Amino acid sequence: MRRISVFGATGSVGANTLDLIRRDRDAYHIVALTGGRNLAALTEQALEFRPDVAVIADETQLAALRAALAGSGVEAAAGRAAVVEAADRPVDWAMSAIVGVAGLEPGLRVLEQGATLALANKETLVAAGPLVMATAGSHGATILPVDSEHSAVFQALRGEDPASVERVIITASGGAFRDWPVETLAKATVADASTHPNWDMGQRITIDSASMFNKALELIETHEFFGIDPGRIEVLVHPESLVHALVGFNDGALMAHVGPPDMRHAIGHALHWPERRALPVERLDLAAIGSLSFRASDEVRWPALRLAREVMAAGGGAGAVFNAAKEQALDGFIAGQIGFADMAGVVERVLEKLSKMNGGAAPLGLDAIMVLDQRARQEAQRIMDAFER
Ligand code: NDP
Repeated sequence: MRRISVFGATGSVGANTLDLIRRDRDAYHIVALTGGRNLAALTEQALEFRPDVAVIADETQLAALRAALAGSGVEAAAGRAAVVEAADRPVDWAMSAIVGVAGLEPGLRVLEQGATLALANKETLVAAGPLVMATAGSHGATILPVDSEHSAVFQALRGEDPASVERVIITASGGAFRDWPVETLAKATVADASTHPNWDMGQRITIDSASMFNKALELIETHEFFGIDPGRIEVLVHPESLVHALVGFNDGALMAHVGPPDMRHAIGHALHWPERRALPVERLDLAAIGSLSFRASDEVRWPALRLAREVMAAGGGAGAVFNAAKEQALDGFIAGQIGFADMAGVVERVLEKLSKMNGGAAPLGLDAIMVLDQRARQEAQRIMDAFER
């Protein structure tokens, strides 16, 4: 029986992971399920899946979790340290689906066990790519990408000689403003940016999609995970969101991964890897779809892409600064403190200001990364506070 933990079980990726596990329940022993604040969802999952431990990150809810799980045989724990400790419990496979930099340390602990980490959490590779890859390497652990673009690249590379790869292309829907004239973007409201042309997702990721900060994070993840030179990674706008990524080889072949926009494909691929097993996702009818379209990405319309390239060139702690500054700028935009088009400028100024703290190209440890994360948030807030005056 495979021992499995799901970090961020109560979120969208976590719930989709449990949906796949539920279909073959007897094959798994669930070690830990963790949630952030959603006590009701965590309780329901714990009573269904009977993990060894259920952990809620919000420590004020420990007594309520204990009461809800009384008599079930499931241990209850709470707090940030308890989430990290849960990652020390031996497993064969774990899902990293906590949102934000809080997902970094549990993921590192799973890698230190030498286990397999299915990685959805974007911040892990953006903020700490060199540390994470080195930790996996030194402990014989495996990382499997879960973001659909990276899973697509991973699948297209299967069985190929890395030396034959010329380029990697990740696609982007283009978000809410792909057809807006560039000069009108400064006037975009939070409501405008919170509407995605293709998907109904959470507000923050929808705005990150409109600004392409989400794609910028994915560019950095592609570089860190696959070790591909930034100059050979391209972003292609593909409004239908059915081709997730393409890999170009030295004989001119482009291997494209085409699939439905359903996270259970990438999650299921990581869950069953190295096998392929039947998954409950839609089978695409390309004749009915008829046509797919592509257009070049544009670093003037989406300056986040330019900043991602600068971050990759800088290395060291630049990714941690970029991620944290972007989170704070997004908070500022949602709160009405800055405009949509100001977000990239705020991030750029924080990157400039903290460039001396990046530590050059040397990989940083976890503590140094967390210090940079905090400094970048403070600096971004300081810059935005000055906007109001
Ligand atoms: P959700 O917001 O739906 O879920 C996030 C999970 O993290 C929840 O379980 C939440 O708990 C938990 N959480 C939040 N804050 C903390 C904290 N401080 N400590 C511990 N746990 C916390 O996010 P998604 O499932 O959509 O995404 C998860 C990650 O995967 C993100 O990094 C995202 O960028 C990435 N990703 C998501 C994709 C998607 O399609 N959704 C695609 C590819 C990557 P609770 O809800 O109980 O508060």
